[in-house]
Parts: sequence; C-alpha cells; structure tokens
Amino acid sequence: MEFYNLHITELPLIGKKRAYLYDKLGIDSVYSLLYHFPRAYIDFTNVSAISETVLEEYAVVRGEVKAKLPPNRIRENMTTYNVIIIDPKGSSDRASNHAKMQITIFNNKYAFDSLDIGGQYYFYGKVTGNLVKKFMASPQIEPTDMACGLIPQYNLTAGLSNNMIRSNMTSALKALDEYTVETLNKKILTDNNLCSLSYALHNIHFPADNEALEIARKRLGFEEMFGFQLALLQLSSQTEIRTDYILQNYALTPFIESLPFELTKSQQDAINDCLADCKREFSMMRLLQGDVGSGKTMIAAALSYVFAKQGWQTAVMAPTEILATQHFDTFSKTLSPLGINVGLLTGSLTAKQKKEVYEQLKTGEITVIVGTHALLYADDCFSDLALIITDEQHRFGVQQRAKIIEKGQKPHVLVMSATPIPRTMALFIYGNLDISTINEMPKNRQPIETYAVTKAYRTRIYKFILKHTSVGNQVYIVCPLIEKGEKTPDELTDVTNYVESLKSGILSEIKIDILHSRMPAAKKDAIMRSFSQGEIDVLVSTTVVEVGVDVPNATLMIIENAERFGLSQLHQLRGRVGRGKDKSYCILISEKEDSARLKIMTESCDGFKIAQEDLKLRGSGDFFGNRQHGLPHFRLVSLYDDIELIKTTRQAAEKVLQDDANLCKEENQPLKRLVQNIVNEDNTSTFN
Ligand code: ADP
Ligand code: MG
Repeated sequence: MEFYNLHITELPLIGKKRAYLYDKLGIDSVYSLLYHFPRAYIDFTNVSAISETVLEEYAVVRGEVKAKLPPNRIRENMTTYNVIIIDPKGSSDRASNHAKMQITIFNNKYAFDSLDIGGQYYFYGKVTGNLVKKFMASPQIEPTDMACGLIPQYNLTAGLSNNMIRSNMTSALKALDEYTVETLNKKILTDNNLCSLSYALHNIHFPADNEALEIARKRLGFEEMFGFQLALLQLSSQTEIRTDYILQNYALTPFIESLPFELTKSQQDAINDCLADCKREFSMMRLLQGDVGSGKTMIAAALSYVFAKQGWQTAVMAPTEILATQHFDTFSKTLSPLGINVGLLTGSLTAKQKKEVYEQLKTGEITVIVGTHALLYADDCFSDLALIITDEQHRFGVQQRAKIIEKGQKPHVLVMSATPIPRTMALFIYGNLDISTINEMPKNRQPIETYAVTKAYRTRIYKFILKHTSVGNQVYIVCPLIEKGEKTPDELTDVTNYVESLKSGILSEIKIDILHSRMPAAKKDAIMRSFSQGEIDVLVSTTVVEVGVDVPNATLMIIENAERFGLSQLHQLRGRVGRGKDKSYCILISEKEDSARLKIMTESCDGFKIAQEDLKLRGSGDFFGNRQHGLPHFRLVSLYDDIELIKTTRQAAEKVLQDDANLCKEENQPLKRLVQNIVNEDNTSTFN
C-alpha cells in the first residue's frame, strides 16, 4: 500500500523544483512516474552511414569523433560546441571516407567534454544542411556499448529533459523492486499469460530487447483495458434506475397527423423503441444513431410531445447556440400548434430573460425547453423533468446521468448522434445503453452529387452558384479560416476575404453574408435565421454550420481547401444540403489533383461507409478528431485494433465482479485502486 503514496521527492535527485516540473506532466508519486510510458523508442541499432542520411529527416548515425572545434560563445548564456564526425572505418561498405557531419551542442560543456577524439558514439537527430555539408543540431548522444538499442523517448516539459526522466525512472524502478508491487492477482496473470508488473515496468522503460518490450506492452495493455472494463461494469450495473415517469396512456396520433410528411419506417421504429423503454419502471438510456439528414429531430419532437401531454418536462440539449436556436424553431413550429409551450435557453439571453425562463420552468409553464447543454447544470430549475435529449454530442454518458440523478431527478435519456460508432465503442463512451439505428432516408431524397475539383474550376463554380440562386435555392461556402494571419499559407481561404472578393466580382448582384464562430451569438442567430428564411442567397461560413443545421432550401455546398478536413467532417458538412426535395450538389475544392480521400466522398453518400474508409486511411485517432472525441484516453490500447483484448478483459472483469461486486476483498484492493484512478481521470475531463 505504502508504495502508492510514495512521493517522487523520495527519489534521489528530485527536489522541489523538479517535482514541480513533474507536476506539470501530471506526475506526483513514484507510481505515476512509472506509468509515464515512453511515447516512442529510438532504435539505435538502426544506423545510417552519413552519406545515406536524408536531409530534413531524423536519423541515427554511428560516428567517430574526428575533430572538436573551439567553443563558440555567441552571446551571453549561449555557447555552441561543434564536433566533426565521420563514418568509422569499415563500419559499413556504404560508409564513405569523405562523408562528414558537423554536430552542434548548445550550452552543454559537459556533453562536449565527454566526447573523446577517435571515440565512437551514436548520434540521433534531424539532419540538415546541403548535399555538400551535413549538420545535426543538439542530437541525442548515446554510448555504443548499450545493452539494447531501444532508448525510450518521453513526453517532456520545458526544463525536464529526456535524460533526466531516464535517470529518475531508473531510481523509480529500484524503489518498485524494493516494495514488490503487483496490481493483478496470480490467477489473472496465469490465465492470461501475463508477466509480472515488475518485469513489465522495467521493460516498458528499458527494454531488454524487442520481445521483452512486447511482453511488457501486452501485460500493461491488459491491465489498462481490464481496469477500464471493471470501471465500466461497475458503472453500468448501476444504470437500471427506477423512475416515476412511467408512460401509461398516451396518444401519438395527433402529432403524426400534424406532420407535413410521413415518417419513415425507421423513424417509427425508433420512436417505438423509445416509447417501449419509457413504459417500464426504469429510466430509458438509449442512443439513437442515424446518418446526417435521416430525420433524428422528429424522434425527439415525437417523444417530447408525448411527455408534454402527460404534463412532464423535456430538456433538449444541443452542442451549439445556432443548433439550439434552430431546434427551438423546429420544436415551436411543430409543437406549439398542438398546445405545447416551448422555451429557449442559451448563454446569450440576458440575466433577466434567463430568470424569466427559469421561473416558467419552475412553474411548469414551459414543458419543452431547448438549450445548450449548460442548461442542465445551471440550476435546479425544473418542476418535473422527465426526459433529457442530447443532440450531436458525445459527452453524455453514465456519469453525466449520475450527476443529474444526484440532484434528485430521474429522467429518461435519449442521446442522438450522426457519428456511426461500433457497439463496443458506444459502450465506452456512454456506458451500457440501448441503441436504435435509423438506416433509411426520407423518401423524397436524392443522393447529393459530389465533385472534387481544383481551383482552376472556380469561374465555372461561380456560374453554378448563380444557376442555383437564380431559381431561388441557396448556397453554402465553407472556408477553413475566419481571417488570415501573417503566417497563413497563401493557398488557404478565409471567410473575410472571400466574401469581399465575391461581392466585388461576378456575384455582386446576389445577397451574400458571412458566419463564423467569433461573432457574437445574437449576430450568429440573426444570420442563421435570415438564411433559413431565404433572405440570404450565399452563406460564406467556417465549419460552424457543420453540425445539425437544417435549411432544406439549400442545394449547393462548396468546400474550399477540402483537403484540410477529415472525411467525417466533410460528410457532416455535405449533409447541410440534400435536405429537401431538390437535387443537391457538393463541390470539394482542393489543391490536389487526385486525392484518394476526396474520391471516397464523390463515390459515396453513406456516412457509415465513409467512416470506415476514413478509418482505413487515417486510423481512429484522426477519425475521432477533436470535436467528436469522447473516447477514454488509452496509453497502450487501440480500440480498433485490439478487439480481442476488449473481449478477454471484459470476461475477466465480469468474473472478478461476480465474485466480489464491490471489490471489497483484500486481494482486490489493487484493482479497486485501478478503477478509482480511471473514474477520477475521466471525471476531470468531463465536467469542466
Ligand atoms: P438529422 O438526422 O441530420 O438531425 P433532421 O432531423 O435535421 O436530420 O432532418 C433533416 C430534414 O428532413 C429536416 O428538414 C426534416 O424536416 C426532414 N424530414 C425528417 N423526417 C422526414 C420524413 N419522414 N420525410 C421527409 N422529410 C423529413
Ligand atoms: Mg440533427
């Protein structure tokens, strides 16, 4: 036990100052230092001859010190030390006698002095210079008699070098061995063929060889995922929550009959799934997946209708103000004629307006409230909150719900998302929930015709814009930037300049406006409203229109610098058109003649398929770019590649919990700690 509380200042060479630097990396105990795994290893056995090194690339060179030049004092506090190295004789047949490299060491007399003329060392760094003369500045220098060629590279912070961490890690490993620490019990280790914690930690930091590194990774990866599975199972075992909001007698027909279109079969099924959930005495926890434009909002409207008719409140939460406002418009239009009072709550209301809304919620005057998700945490303002619907955001899972339940409300929860995620992954993000999928588009839809072109087409594109606006349709143009900065590459477009050039050029006759995230919320709303009312022909915007915006009259989406965006993001953007009965188009403008990624866009309108292709091309990290994040952070495990591990750890976790549901037994204390670490980590990133 004690070991876990051992502070890093207990280690040699770590004083207050260094402890402060470690704190910046989130490291305070010896234990947390040991779990600061290398982000990579440099393989010092993979050596290039000097003549083989490629300019502007990193390389390991085994060099013989030929000459040490006199120190060069450039200014106060800055002395450079230069060393000339050559390929050692006979080191490789590719080594050439003429090849030289100049090594520069900054402000490190010690490193300079420890190099002997005629001695051999490894140098790792970026090769610069030209074909005649090559340089390497502040390389990592290693002796040539290392046990193994794999040298750990750590994430650093200013003032804390890789070598410092390496040396502290050595002491930390010594401490670990003194305390004989183990997080997994013998049975789990043998059942899953895993090495001891000590072996694993030694070899993740200082691998004896590649095989030992793999064994270490396997063990620590297992531990990571296993801890997570335990946490998840514990959380989700608490998700069956009794509620007072049990649907009994209700009628949906008036709502359905009031719609200007017929619901698709998929939409009906989804609504029925939800209603069935809400008839039970436990609260619903359901994820509704459906591609962009599949009509998820109507599911939300149908449910809030049913709930309102029972006299219960619904909160609809959107990730952006624009979307909240738009939902407010949709919900008002749909529900007000049916006698339901809809309210809007966003950050841009005045304090007085907010207070009014809160009062109306408290009295029950407002039955459906639409807002940004901050609304949920604002106050205990509801009189009878029975249903929470979140749209297009991942950050609403088991823990958020727990938070609300703490406040004494036990609402049903529906999470809506256009991002297709496999079942296992949904589990990670939201916990144990049920899933409904809308897998068909409303009948009147035609596929969006998509083209990838270069800038050479721009004049033609302008004509194409006029073709759309002249018959009363509308156009989006998306640029990656709001405004150019000094260092912005020329080829990038920005909305500010773009609008100016459009207005002064061929498009001077039509109404063009601008939208971006730095505008005040009220201005954004006003512009989005006038666009949706058809008062603006062309909206030049940043990706703020990406999520959820719905203007069925818009039929053309033009995306500048399309190569800058991820495929899922392009798919979301494209989903802003093709929402009505008219044929729609999407034009992707990019520098590249033929991009494999953009080609995928021109060939498919199916979000699930595009996501898959994107994954293949770029890996999960990019696909779940920043906005769509919500997945827990794993150090060693890849959720896409390690499906097998996900399964085995789940089974192992189930076994442990069957035997000891609350992890109370003495032998399970290390596991309990593992779980606590995970839950705490996730908490901090969720509620900020
Ligand atoms: P998303 O699933 O992307 O949130 P929306 O709910 O915004 O999609 O719906 C897209 C558009 O399709 C909206 O204009 C909506 O009114 C319309 N729509 C929804 N369901 C149907 C349907 N069954 N038939 C025709 N149009 C529909
Ligand atoms: Mg939507």
